[in-house]
Amino acid sequence: MKRLVVVLALVLVMAFGVSAAHANKLEEIKARGVLVAGVRDSTNLFGFVDPNTKELVGFDIDVVRYIADKLGVDIQFKVVTSNNRIPMLVQGAVDIVAATMTHKFSRDEQIDFSITYFMDGQKLLVEKGSGINSTADLANRKVGTVKGSTSEENIKDAQPAAQVISYDEYPQAFMALKQGKVVAVTTDYGILAGLKAGDVEPDRWEIVGEFFSSEPYGLGVPENESKFRDFVNLCLNQMWLDGTYHANFKKWMGYDLPAGWQMELWPM
Ligand code: GLU
Repeated sequence: MKRLVVVLALVLVMAFGVSAAHANKLEEIKARGVLVAGVRDSTNLFGFVDPNTKELVGFDIDVVRYIADKLGVDIQFKVVTSNNRIPMLVQGAVDIVAATMTHKFSRDEQIDFSITYFMDGQKLLVEKGSGINSTADLANRKVGTVKGSTSEENIKDAQPAAQVISYDEYPQAFMALKQGKVVAVTTDYGILAGLKAGDVEPDRWEIVGEFFSSEPYGLGVPENESKFRDFVNLCLNQMWLDGTYHANFKKWMGYDLPAGWQMELWPM
């Protein structure tokens, strides 16, 4: 009898375990009543702390707030970096990542991505009059960027003779530029624009060179949660169609959408 109870218990545990493994992320979030979003906290314009309200604000923050609203749930933020955002999602510490993240096939091996919700490319931020105008001028010079970013890889391809120094976050790379430890910071244009705009002396800096990479941003979602991913894509389409996307882009970026780019819209 005792044995039967143990076996029964085991069967129940297994059945529950299996059904938990197959639980649908979308339903799980709704039942929990909270969407846990991995966001940046020091990437001006995308995810950063408002100095007055001390709240996280920015373009990426607005995107996940919109999705939480559509889900009818609250939002909770967890701060991620370029380096830990994919592991955080894989471990289930966050439900979604909205963190200036380029979607690319190598990253798609561990997680899934939404459609492209922001289009950018990589450039250089330098001190005005530095004489650095493109990646060609970075041979044997030190350039700062961030660990775990595509920027780190792209600059090595674009200028193999550059000495790339990777920091944890972009403000640290910018600090290194100010201290003369590097001669340029390199990453996506929007992030560089945010560093420049957020500085006490914005006119001291300039963004130079041609785009030398393509950086389509996707929201990171857990692997094989297609109902959740479909819902996220639907929200992005609605955000574009109802004007929220354009209003947010204008509010945060202050420049026009990249010419010719528009969100991939799926007919209903
Ligand atoms: N978009 C690039 C990436 O996903 C650079 C910005 C970042 O570090 O998040 O790696």
